Amino acid sequence: MIPCPVCGDSEAVRAVATLHREHVESRNLTDLARYLAPPRVQVRLPDPSYADRQETHVLLPSLVLSFLIGVAVAFMGYGFGGFLIATLPCALLGLLAAKLFAAARYEAARDEALAAAQGEERSPAHRKRQQQWEQAVYCPRDDIVSLAGGIIQLSPAQFHDIMTGRIGTEDESDEPATGHGL
Ligand SMILES: [Zn+2]
Repeated sequence: MIPCPVCGDSEAVRAVATLHREHVESRNLTDLARYLAPPRVQVRLPDPSYADRQETHVLLPSLVLSFLIGVAVAFMGYGFGGFLIATLPCALLGLLAAKLFAAARYEAARDEALAAAQGEERSPAHRKRQQQWEQAVYCPRDDIVSLAGGIIQLSPAQFHDIMTGRIGTEDESDEPATGHGL
């Protein structure tokens, strides 16, 4: 293992990938374990309320339409009974249609989010992060993650921000990372 660029100790330094494997095996849920996790593309699933909103788009007009049909039937001489007989099935059909519509819309939005995440996983930026993660080492004495053979030193939290793509690297090429790019 390369020595720590801060304290020069090579005994304490561990590969981030090895530490991560140990954290997973011991079900370690500390902040450090979270910070050293490999880069992961976030799937931005649609909010559950998205389906509700889609449902409302169909439900409201269909309820209004059911009511108007009922009123028309009532005025044609069928009275309140006619109103109920016409309105209730129409409203139920409207409700069913709204549920089906909302489910289809939600599924489409979810598929889109999954496809976007898959595309991001294949991106050069993600592959670069993966590579950086595989080469990263951690010194517990200084609480420092070193990248690129010690040229770049980061706190575990900063490292996590880069791995999750929250902080981008300016240089998205496959060139070896330098301190300027981060
Ligand atoms: Zn050190």
